[in-house]
Amino acid sequence: MENLEKAIAEIKKQMPGLRLLENEPLAGHSSFRIGGPVRALAVPSSVMSLTKICAILKDHQLAPLLLGNGTNLLFPDEGLSELFIISTEKLTKLFLLPDGAIYAEAGVPLAKLASFAQQNGLAGLEFASGIPGSLGGGCVMNAGAYGGELKDLIESVVCYYLPEQRLYELTKEQCRFGYRSSLFQTLGGCVILSAVLRPAAGDKEEIAAKMRELNERRREKQPLDLPSAGSAFKRPEGYYAAALIEEAGLKGYAVGGAQVSEKHAGFIVNTGGATSHDVHELMLYIRKTVYEKSGVRLDPEILILPPDYKLEDHGPAVPGHRIDLRKEE
Ligand SMILES: Cc1cc2nc3c(=O)[nH]c(=O)nc-3n(C[C@H](O)[C@H](O)[C@H](O)COP(=O)(O)OP(=O)(O)OC[C@H]3O[C@@H](n4cnc5c(N)ncnc54)[C@H](O)[C@@H]3O)c2cc1C
Repeated sequence: MENLEKAIAEIKKQMPGLRLLENEPLAGHSSFRIGGPVRALAVPSSVMSLTKICAILKDHQLAPLLLGNGTNLLFPDEGLSELFIISTEKLTKLFLLPDGAIYAEAGVPLAKLASFAQQNGLAGLEFASGIPGSLGGGCVMNAGAYGGELKDLIESVVCYYLPEQRLYELTKEQCRFGYRSSLFQTLGGCVILSAVLRPAAGDKEEIAAKMRELNERRREKQPLDLPSAGSAFKRPEGYYAAALIEEAGLKGYAVGGAQVSEKHAGFIVNTGGATSHDVHELMLYIRKTVYEKSGVRLDPEILILPPDYKLEDHGPAVPGHRIDLRKEE
C-alpha cells in the first residue's frame, strides 16, 4: 500500500501530462456496469508512456492490471484499493504494413479492426466485428465467434515483459492460443502492446455482407440491450453452455440484479443494480445446478477479480483467478 502511494507520487512527478484517475469507480469501465473504485487508473496516450508507467511500478515492486474495453471482467463492489490499472483505450494506431499485413495497437477495438480489414479488402475478421473488446483483451482471451478466432489471423504479438522490463515479439505459436485461452492468462507480467494480423485477400462487398449477417444474428440472439460480460461460461467439450443452463431450468433465474438472460441462457445480465456478489453467487448456483442435472462442469469465461486481489512484482498482468470452488462444497 505504501509502495503504491509512492509509485503514484512518482508517476505524477515524472509524467505530469498523464491522464491519471484516482479512486475511480470501475463500474464505468466495465460492460457489466459493476465495480467499486480502483486506487489509480492511468490512461497513457502512447506505448512509450505505458512502458514508462510499468517501469516506475516495477521500481516499487508493483505490477499493473491491464484494462482493454472491460467486456470480459467482473470487478468487485468493494473496489480495488491496492491496485493500479492501466487502460489501453488510447493505444489505437492501426495501419497496413508494406507487405499487406495489419499492424494494430492493443487498444484498437475489434469492431474497428474488422471494418478496417473490410475497407482494405481483407477477409477473415468478420467474426470479430460484433465482439465489443479490444485487440489486447482479444489476444488474452483468444476471442472468437461463429467459427473464427483471433489466433487464425495473428502472426505475432509484441509485449512488454514486466519482470525483465523488455520487449518481446512472440510468434502465434509462442502465444499458445487455445479455446478462449492464451499464454497471457498464465504467464504473469505480460503487457500486450500490439499485434500483426494477416487476413486473406477478399471481396469488400462479400466481407461487408458477412459482417452484416453475423451482427444481425447477434442482435437476434443476444441480450445486447442489457449490461453483461458476454458468455459467462466457456463451451464445455461436446456441449453448449447455454443449452445446458436452459435445460437445467435456469433461464430467467436471478440473484439480486443478476439474471440468466431470458433471451440467451449463456449470458448473465445486469437488470439494474446488480452487485459483483450477485453475479458470483449466480455463477456458483448455475455451475452447481448444471452439474447436478447433467454431470457437466462449467468453467467461467468471465475473469473475476476478488476484492483482495493484489498484484505484486512478477504477479500476473492478467488475473488468473477463477470461481472459488471451495465455496461450492
Ligand atoms: C455483449 C458481449 C458480447 C461478447 N461476445 C463475445 C464473442 O462473441 N466472443 C468472444 O470471444 N468474446 C465475447 N465477449 C467477451 C469479450 O468481449 C472478449 O473476451 C474480449 O476479447 C475482451 O476484450 P476487452 O478488451 O474487453 O478485455 P478486458 O475485459 O478489458 O480484459 C480481459 C483480460 O485481458 C487483460 N488485458 C486486456 N488488455 C490487455 C493488454 N493490452 N495486455 C495484457 N493484458 C490485457 C485484462 O487484464 C483481462 O485479464 C462479449 C462480451 C460482451 C459484453
